[in-house]
Amino acid sequence: MHDKTLTELAAGLQAGKFSSRELCQAALDRIERLDGELNSFITVTAEQALANADAADSAREAGDAGPLAGLPLALKDIFCTQGVRTSCGSKMLDDFVSPYDASVVEKLRQAGAVNLGKTNMDEFAMGSSNESSFYGPVKNPWDLSAVPGGSSGGSAAAVAAGLVPAALGTDTGGSIRQPAAFCGITGLKPTYGRVSRYGMVAFASSLDQGGPLARSAADCALLLEAIAGHDVRDSTSVARVVPDYTAELDTSLAGLKIGLPKEYFGDGLDPEVETAVREAIKVYESLGAKVCEVSLPHTHLAIPAYYVIAPAEASSNLSRFDGVRFGHRCDDPTDLEDLYKRTRAEGFGEEVKRRILIGTHTLSEGFFDAYYLKAQQVRRLIRQDFLDAFDEVDVLMGPTAPTPAFDLGAQKDPVSMYLQDIYTIAVNLAGIPGISVPAGFAGSRPVGLQVLAPHFAEAQLLGVAHQFQQATDWHLKRPAFGKETA
Ligand code: GLN
Repeated sequence: MHDKTLTELAAGLQAGKFSSRELCQAALDRIERLDGELNSFITVTAEQALANADAADSAREAGDAGPLAGLPLALKDIFCTQGVRTSCGSKMLDDFVSPYDASVVEKLRQAGAVNLGKTNMDEFAMGSSNESSFYGPVKNPWDLSAVPGGSSGGSAAAVAAGLVPAALGTDTGGSIRQPAAFCGITGLKPTYGRVSRYGMVAFASSLDQGGPLARSAADCALLLEAIAGHDVRDSTSVARVVPDYTAELDTSLAGLKIGLPKEYFGDGLDPEVETAVREAIKVYESLGAKVCEVSLPHTHLAIPAYYVIAPAEASSNLSRFDGVRFGHRCDDPTDLEDLYKRTRAEGFGEEVKRRILIGTHTLSEGFFDAYYLKAQQVRRLIRQDFLDAFDEVDVLMGPTAPTPAFDLGAQKDPVSMYLQDIYTIAVNLAGIPGISVPAGFAGSRPVGLQVLAPHFAEAQLLGVAHQFQQATDWHLKRPAFGKETA
């Protein structure tokens, strides 16, 4: 059961081959057996899950099952869940229990999905390897000495290891797509505004976007259908009809114009990753697509602009963690100043502190114009690069990350870690959607193909990814880890 897609599991439930209780119990048993080694979950909510599985089974018997009825899922521990700890991978929120559910959590529940628990992540979603988590690193099921990517590393590893068929993550600069690539699964970052951010712990509010990580593009379509849509509680969510993504998966690729940004195939790209990506593009050509080279001339400015904008927004968002209202509070503060200082010194890890310092600096008087304002102008140029490219082509393709998963502990300095996101970060700055699809291996480690589309063209993006998965079997490969057990 553990290597099936959501779509297959939904069919099994529908045909009465197994109950949601059996399915969820099997997944919980697997988590119990294997997650000691992977560390992909921070919290497992077994009891609640089984009660919800029973409710889904009863709803099905009564003929009133939602589209995801009885299907087990996991949530990155950045989504607020009423009554269940939401840690955001930080000591700061180690004992924080949200009084409400995030909008997407509510929507998944209404669709009948059963949440099995909260997955591990880089602290406050800052990272590309899951090593900044207060709860320790996650291992990559394809190679236990490698990182799973980040920041949604727990969600990606849990799906890849067959602990859950799908999970939600968030992507501020690559955190859904890069771990999906490293773990050999499919991950979709929707258009900014497509999915509500209400109840998602804020990192960089103008970039953050929640989305699915799953075993196929078809499964991502199913999940996006459930979580997308306008939400009055998130003023940046867009009031646009949610298409029937599943119905639009079977579009023909004949005549599809694919642009290959030349900046995505330059220095620093691992040759094995490049070979796998170029092979994938050949598959598209054989399916009738036309390929040409395009340019995104401001690509080299994406990482510098991001590392002004994201820390600036983070320093503002994270000012709420002051020892008064949320989470951690230091012992015996002598006065208010001491309370703030020690609470924040104890509660935040090194990477989070680094970002708060950078952000506070760039927003401070005398530096605001030189850094923050300039970065916003650069952001506009980066967005325009994509709009210009989409005048010429339907989608863009390239590698998701410059290398396959690296070894745990291998990236010692922050800047080399930041460079991991070279192909993903501009997408968040522009607000467009992107998907990472399994496209082969570099040695034993998976390679992801990234596909990008214009704002709100998720239906096309998912269709383009799905057609590739109809023609290839990379997304069906499973790691040896956990294979011997059911
Ligand atoms: N790796 C990037 C960062 O550290 C992006 C993280 C993310 O998308 N949440 O900020």
